[in-house]
Amino acid sequence: MSTLNKRIVILGAGYAGIFLSTNLSSKLDKDSNEIILIDRNNYHQLMQEIHLVASGFRTADQLKIPISSLIQGKNVHFIQDDIKRIIPDKNLISLNSGDIKYDELIVCLGSSTKYFNIPGADKYTLPIRSIYDASIIHDHISKIISDENKKHNIVIVGAGATGISLGSALAEMINASPNKGNIKVNIIEATSTILPGWDIRVKNKTEEILKDKGIRIFHNSLVERVEERTLFLKDGLEINSSLIIWTAGVRGYNIDIEPTIDKTNDGRIIVNEYCQTNQYKNIYSIGDLAAMKNSKGTLYPPLAQIAVRQARYLADNMAEYYIKGNEPKEKFDYEIKAQIISVGSDEYVGLLNNYVVSGDLAKMIDEFTKQTYMKSLKTGGKNISVNLYENDFFSQVMAGITFAGFTFFKGLEKLA
Ligand SMILES: Cc1cc2nc3c(=O)[nH]c(=O)nc-3n(C[C@H](O)[C@H](O)[C@H](O)COP(=O)(O)OP(=O)(O)OC[C@H]3O[C@@H](n4cnc5c(N)ncnc54)[C@H](O)[C@@H]3O)c2cc1C
Repeated sequence: MSTLNKRIVILGAGYAGIFLSTNLSSKLDKDSNEIILIDRNNYHQLMQEIHLVASGFRTADQLKIPISSLIQGKNVHFIQDDIKRIIPDKNLISLNSGDIKYDELIVCLGSSTKYFNIPGADKYTLPIRSIYDASIIHDHISKIISDENKKHNIVIVGAGATGISLGSALAEMINASPNKGNIKVNIIEATSTILPGWDIRVKNKTEEILKDKGIRIFHNSLVERVEERTLFLKDGLEINSSLIIWTAGVRGYNIDIEPTIDKTNDGRIIVNEYCQTNQYKNIYSIGDLAAMKNSKGTLYPPLAQIAVRQARYLADNMAEYYIKGNEPKEKFDYEIKAQIISVGSDEYVGLLNNYVVSGDLAKMIDEFTKQTYMKSLKTGGKNISVNLYENDFFSQVMAGITFAGFTFFKGLEKLA
């Protein structure tokens, strides 16, 4: 345990911030070091399921975990406030309620929607980046479903994982309603395939599922501008829509840092493989907001599984090296082993160790990871489900054995 007297301030209680604060609290001496966690919300959001709030398969409350329940009994002091500005030269954070000093600062404020400067996109479309956004979409969809007098188009711009999951869930909601014949879900994608960057086998399987749900997909379709209820594509096509949802781009959350530090064009804070920023030794960034290159030289994608691993890595380094003023030995290095996408209220498809999984197996993997993820949230530590996503041989074997046991007991539950 370290005994140095430091105040560590963590901005954002998303996947990165929660894991970092709970994990770090178990590693640092309680009496000497102070860990402060700040977020505008007093709950942690389970982002992977927010499309199910938009489609009414989950309530907003089901996806909000009170931060107090996650940090209970830990050396973490939570402040609910809006973070306005970071002033690195004074080691100071400006909050709505006043200023706060830090010795070490970790910025994990996540991401926001990127509109590519397309005219009207930010004004006439809805984003889906929080439970709040999802609830607003749900209100709109509910009105559309209850309107039996008109035909409606719902348009989702972007066929990445968020657009696909949202489109599938909305189509399922609509198909279960008496008004299904009047409403069509459309997904607009700028490139030639859905799920850019994913394995071709997963793309094909997912496209089959979307077609079965009656979703219309527009490939190679670039949005030129958006007006109220109308989308104009570069190829001249105009699509009228009762609701347009924008999932096409992600950028780093725009936090004011004065003087500024190095960021990418997409507003992500540039960090090295040790999570450190270029300009300040005591400022780090992890999660969606951090732009860190992997061993192949490309940026890690904005995914919860990356945020969680960076948090655990940084907690180790913080306790072992940084607060003692030393440099860490090992770089962060992670290879994505598993990716599962939700394609309906209870349907999944994905890739595990290069095998395509769908149907009951994919569903079981998703349930397994979610259930055990909830347990690891409180400790910030590794557990067996998270191991399914780990790179080392031991973790993979342990995860395999536990998953087999989980599947067996689930099977028994079904028989009973
Ligand atoms: C619809 C959807 C589905 C997704 N599904 C998956 C999935 O299946 N698998 C996967 O790996 N990833 C998924 N992701 C991505 C995943 O949610 C992110 O990678 C992850 O949330 C990043 O964690 P983070 O801690 O960096 O940011 P976040 O989890 O976004 O946390 C940022 C925190 O900062 C707080 N905050 C921001 N600005 C301020 C401010 N000014 N003041 C105070 N607080 C502030 C926010 O309230 C939030 O709590 C999905 C994302 C979306 C939108």
